[in-house]
This record gives sequence, C-alpha cells and structure tokens, in this order.
Amino acid sequence: MNYLITGGAGFIGSHLAAYLLEQGHQVHILDNLSTGDPENIRKLTRYQHFRSTVADIRDVEAVEQAIARCDQVYHLAASVGVKKVMEQGVETLTTNVLGTENVLRLAAHYRVKVFLASSSEVYGKVQGEDSLLSEADDCLIGATSKKRWGYACSKAMDEFLAKAYQEEQNLDVVIGRFFNVVGAVTSANQKNDNGKVIPRFIDQAMKGEPIRVYGDGSQLRSFTHVTDVIQAVTALMNVPEAVGEVFNVGSENEVSIRDLAEKVKQITGSSSQIQTIPFEQIYGSGFEDIGRRSPDLTKIKSTIPYKPQFDMDQILQEAVNEYLRDKGSTKAAG
Ligand code: UDP
Repeated sequence: MNYLITGGAGFIGSHLAAYLLEQGHQVHILDNLSTGDPENIRKLTRYQHFRSTVADIRDVEAVEQAIARCDQVYHLAASVGVKKVMEQGVETLTTNVLGTENVLRLAAHYRVKVFLASSSEVYGKVQGEDSLLSEADDCLIGATSKKRWGYACSKAMDEFLAKAYQEEQNLDVVIGRFFNVVGAVTSANQKNDNGKVIPRFIDQAMKGEPIRVYGDGSQLRSFTHVTDVIQAVTALMNVPEAVGEVFNVGSENEVSIRDLAEKVKQITGSSSQIQTIPFEQIYGSGFEDIGRRSPDLTKIKSTIPYKPQFDMDQILQEAVNEYLRDKGSTKAAG
C-alpha cells in the first residue's frame, strides 16, 4: 500500500511511519515541521519506500499532489494542544479546521480512505465522574472567552466535517479520539518541548527538584502507549464496520496526577517534594482543567481485537530508561 501520513514528522506520525515502512509499505509524509522534527524524517530516510514533503496542510496544491498519489491517508497533522491554542489561536484554529477540510475534500475527490486523528479534548468538561467517557456522550465545551476550548472545538469541527464528507460525498473515514498518548520521543526537539506531564515529572524527580503538580492533583488521566495507539488505528482502518464511526483510542491506565507524581518518585528513588501549584499560576486566569478523562473502550473492543499492552509501570519505566539514555549520551558527547 501507498500511505500518506500528514503530520508524519511528529511524535505519533513518525512511529506510525516506521511501523508501516517496516511492514514493507510505501510511506509519504507531509509535515510543515511546526512541531514535527526534521530529525524524525532523517531517521526514516533509511527506508527505500519513504518520501517526505515539507508543506502545510492548508496548502491546497501540496495536499492535492500528495493525496492524488496515495491509497490511504492517516491525517495526524494538527496544531496540537491546549497551550498552543492559548498562545497562537489563529495558527491553531486555521490549521485544524481549514487544513483538515482540505484533506477531507481532496480525499473525497480522489476516493482515498482517511483516518482522522481527533482528541479526547472533544469531550470538553464532561468529567465522566461516575462512568467513563463514551463516544455517544454529549460534549460540554466551555465559554468562548476561555481560549483553551478553541482546541476542543476545532477537533469537534474536524469530526463534523469528516462525517459530512462521509455522508454526502461517500468519503471512507474513520475517526479516533486519542487519550494522553505517551511513549519514546525520538527527536531532540520534541524532547525539549516538554509540556507533557510524564517527562516533566521524571526530569524534576531526577534532578531532586520539587515535582510540580498543577491544581490539587486529583485530576485523573489515562495514559496510552503510542505502540498501542498504532495497533488500534491500523486495525480500525482494516475493518469496514469502522467507516463513518468515532472511536476512543485509549487505555485503562487511569491514574490521578498526584499518584503519578508518587509513582515517579518511587520509580526514580527520588527524594523530591511534591508541590501543588494553582492552575492560574501556570495558564493565567480563567483556565479550566478537566477532572477525569478516561475512555470507555467498549466500542473499539467490539470492533477490533484491541487490548492495550502497556501498563502504567511499563510506561514509566520506559520513560525513565529513555531519560537515563539521553543523559548518558549527552554526558558522553560532552
Ligand atoms: N500537569 C502537571 N504538571 C506538569 C504538567 C502537567 O500537574 O508539569 C497536569 C496537567 O495540568 C493535567 C495533567 O497533568 O491535568 C496532564 O497534562 P498533560 O499536559 O500531559 O496532558 P493534558 O491531559 O493536559 O492534555
């Protein structure tokens, strides 16, 4: 098969590209390198069937050229994350909405099947207090004056567009809502962009600095290893029942952020204090965090044989090993 991966230089995209290339497929990645990393591309050039184009998904010509030549698209390119939308709203919102519309329209035109990467952010403030978040649940997005909700809205709009193209123009599309995807980050640039909680806690613990928990730490998250995500999305693209459907792509690794800090302390043998910091101090006033965000996996499990392999201990051990390896190689280089 000939695959196009938009956002292929990013964290999930580069893992997916390596997986598909290992299977002998052709892979073309399209990435504007805004958060993707040229180092990820360089690593893939050892595969004969690999190509890359540096272009933005808002660039109609570039997207058209790429889609016209492929069999399937994994559309992962997006301006990702709450922090980004708060700082660069125009860039985030136009990339996610206009860029995705380009991909969907052209894929419909060329009759190419698409996987659309969405996000658990789409659920908004629905906490799943008593139950897990399930695909048919209502979404509860906060006021437009609170900029963080722009990201959730942009991904929700992507899902609406995908569904509309499917129904009105026969586009084959599968939608996955990702829940806190973690795993080996293979490029230096992305390591430096350490907004994510696990690498931050490990770094703080290893340096003996306070582990900084935002809010009171009672918020719950489910962390999903990138390897499990890739198994899920590639399997979903191979079953006809998945077309036109939205799936939670997550795990049962639910943990509170305070417990996560404790686990990191334990696994690193660190004597760091655990410090709580009000959200406003980090994100400015009016920030709203989500209390519980964990997926109901009934739908995906009834559609494909999905059983995430990585539990929390394995995820943390791998992240610590990666940290130690990086420190070792920095020392050796120095
Ligand atoms: N978090 C934290 N300390 C950090 C970074 C993040 O306590 O240094 C919290 C963050 O507020 C959120 C959770 O950890 O409640 C997960 O954050 P992350 O950015 O990894 O993913 P999110 O769930 O916000 O998309």
